[in-house]
Amino acid sequence: MSGGMSDFDVIVVGAGPAGSSAAIKLASSGSNVLLVERADPPGSKAVSGGILWGKELEKVVPDWEKVTPLERFIEYKSTAFLTEESKVSVDFRTKKFEKSKTGYSVLRAKLDQFLAQKAKAAGATLVTGITVDSLSMKDGIVNGVVQDGETVTANTVILAEGTNPRVAIEAGLRKPLSDLDSAIGIKEVVKLSENTINERFNLKGNAGYAGEFVLGFLEGGVRAGGFMYTNKDSLSVGVVISLPHLRENGKTYAYDIMEKFMQHPYVSPLVEGGQVQEYSAHLVSEGGVNSMPDLYGDGYMIAGDSAGFTFSNGMVIQGMNYAIASGVLAAETAIEAIKKKEFTRGALSSYQSKLERSQVLMDLRKFRGIDRLVWSRLVHETAPEMLENILFGIFYEDGSPKKHLANTILQGISGSNMKKSELIMETYRMLRRM
Ligand SMILES: Cc1cc2nc3c(=O)[nH]c(=O)nc-3n(C[C@H](O)[C@H](O)[C@H](O)COP(=O)(O)OP(=O)(O)OC[C@H]3O[C@@H](n4cnc5c(N)ncnc54)[C@H](O)[C@@H]3O)c2cc1C
Repeated sequence: MSGGMSDFDVIVVGAGPAGSSAAIKLASSGSNVLLVERADPPGSKAVSGGILWGKELEKVVPDWEKVTPLERFIEYKSTAFLTEESKVSVDFRTKKFEKSKTGYSVLRAKLDQFLAQKAKAAGATLVTGITVDSLSMKDGIVNGVVQDGETVTANTVILAEGTNPRVAIEAGLRKPLSDLDSAIGIKEVVKLSENTINERFNLKGNAGYAGEFVLGFLEGGVRAGGFMYTNKDSLSVGVVISLPHLRENGKTYAYDIMEKFMQHPYVSPLVEGGQVQEYSAHLVSEGGVNSMPDLYGDGYMIAGDSAGFTFSNGMVIQGMNYAIASGVLAAETAIEAIKKKEFTRGALSSYQSKLERSQVLMDLRKFRGIDRLVWSRLVHETAPEMLENILFGIFYEDGSPKKHLANTILQGISGSNMKKSELIMETYRMLRRM
């Protein structure tokens, strides 16, 4: 298949982190690329908790830390178990993160716009406010996209549509989503002054806080996690809810869980007095390699959330970094294909091998099934209450004779809703897989 006749070398569907990174890389190498985004401006429909982990952006924006709209660098990381009346947390703060930054809070409305404009500045044709309806196929080979009955052709299409990849599903390149492929995310951006945020979270300057929570107070078998991240002068606050558990329960509404989280006695003082600027809901990719489609075929590649590239172990959610990494690798593969003027499945197969050698598939293969463990009874029902009981036992003083620490802990374990042997086995299994 030769590339001479097409409108573009490459069409990228979706200007999220995956699509825009691919487009920047392609355009910078001189390829003729079309980047299509349904939102106008890009990012106005995007939902992410908001910590951009790692340094992947360096691959497409070399001076990214200076020019990207980043909110705060993460200096204070916390993971907490909440029960109705308590919070048990592990807090980690270090000046080391000031010198070696590990992540930044970001607002997608700004980040996506910035990256899409970078792609445009590098020479990509950026079209916003346009939803691709379907792929154009000729003899079973993808050769472009269709919108409103009009076809635009390309030698390769990179699908970076995000977590609900309708175009890929419609074309039969991905199975329709099941409950195990996603969780529901709800998020608010709550406006507070920079000073208030610094005081409430004990922060200075540009340092930021990223907290993850297990919502151990939910009833009826519903399981959810919460997150709270500091931006410069707003908080990103939200919940991620397990779909199979929500469906099984059948009575609880997702937004009720968000309300309960926001009203928790140790959450509400942090958001108090804030103005809600944004309220959004979005699917969060889950399932990792278990829900991964074929990543490439004749004339196409799939990147980012559309390919299921997210990782969550309950302590972090990471998806933007994998989206950028996979977008760049898809672009590199397309650049090689353009040189060889060959866009068949075989020619694009090096996308898979590049991913296998990268952090993306190494992580997702190593942590296969982690999401099911994260949603386990141990984490959501047993641990929060048990930790609360143990710590209450340690710190409560009522004048009666004290117990040894080991006895208080054993008593807490015996009083939990899991058998001791099961608890030990489950904890061991969990730690090994994390
Ligand atoms: C509540 C929540 C919290 C999260 N927290 C974090 C976090 O803290 N850190 C982290 O790294 N990740 C987080 N994630 C995951 C992260 O947001 C995703 O992994 C990441 O956005 C994936 O990037 P992407 O480019 O693949 O897809 P997306 O960011 O979803 O971008 C896809 C783009 O394609 C566009 N599009 C879709 N279909 C079409 C079409 N047919 N035509 C034209 N355009 C189309 C969309 O409008 C969108 O702009 C979170 C996700 C959620 C929902």
